[in-house]
Amino acid sequence: MTALIDGKAAAKRIRAQVAADVAAAYPSREQAPGLATILVGGDPASAVYVASKRRAVREAGMRDQHRSLPENSTQEQVAAVIDELAADPAVSGILLQLPLPKGLDSARLIERIPAEKDVDGLTTMSAGLLARGQYGLRPCTPSGVIELLDTESVPITGARAVVVGRSELVGRPLAQLLLHRDATVTIAHSKTRDLAAVTREADILVAAAGVRGLIGAEHVRPGATVIDVGIHRTDGGLAGDVRAAELDGIAARITPVPGGVGPMTIAMLMSNTLSAAQWARG
Ligand code: NAP
Repeated sequence: MTALIDGKAAAKRIRAQVAADVAAAYPSREQAPGLATILVGGDPASAVYVASKRRAVREAGMRDQHRSLPENSTQEQVAAVIDELAADPAVSGILLQLPLPKGLDSARLIERIPAEKDVDGLTTMSAGLLARGQYGLRPCTPSGVIELLDTESVPITGARAVVVGRSELVGRPLAQLLLHRDATVTIAHSKTRDLAAVTREADILVAAAGVRGLIGAEHVRPGATVIDVGIHRTDGGLAGDVRAAELDGIAARITPVPGGVGPMTIAMLMSNTLSAAQWARG
């Protein structure tokens, strides 16, 4: 039997723990950590994501410091808002919701966020701190994957881990987090030859390619733990990068889509916001 990893339950536990830690460390709401979300334009999917992040912030007893900017905002206008939030000691974390409207250079805007407030872990400074194994804020989805592995007591030390995908957002930082935990890590990508031969080596297989149904029975070693990061909207609901039904009886455990990695991302954002506030306190 292949066990399903319950990301919803794990995320709920982490969010409750963050709320308890916030209540204990910041008895007054006015002093509580604050997350500034920045939404530029009216992309409906982005608006939904930002709304759920803001709701989670309030539920954790933290301060919701949202900024909404018009679709036709200039690079300078968005930069000015980031700079203002960066200088404001009441703001613990800054999240610039992506993608930005056409014409805005998101890479340059992200770089304006100080590492101490970079709750998405996307700046070059945060990536460098991660690469060096130094203290910093880690990207939320990769740290959510590590949390899930820990929740399930999956041994990471010495395990063979294969990460399919090398994006700045997911694959690359996740491979580094696994390496820091002493896994033997392989990163596969679109130019990898014989993907199945590579992934069949994995004790821990992470699919983060953004290709629906890429990973099937032929890619998975019996007893492996399979983490499906992919999210695809289909007529039948959300689907992942893994053909999960094929893995039944092969994988030891697998994250479902939805209800696996997805809920962990917001939970880790809450955790990062609290960490950012504590970092600011020294
Ligand atoms: P991305 O930036 O498009 O990166 C995809 C990576 O996969 C690239 O490194 C690419 O290789 C590799 N790849 C593409 N096709 C491949 C193939 N056929 N075989 C092997 N590797 C292949 O995507 P992303 O932002 O990392 O996101 C990946 C997926 O995770 C998407 O479905 C996204 O929606 C989902 N996601 C989920 C969450 C969550 O909360 N659960 C959060 C973020 C993203 P090259 O580098 O060679 O192009």
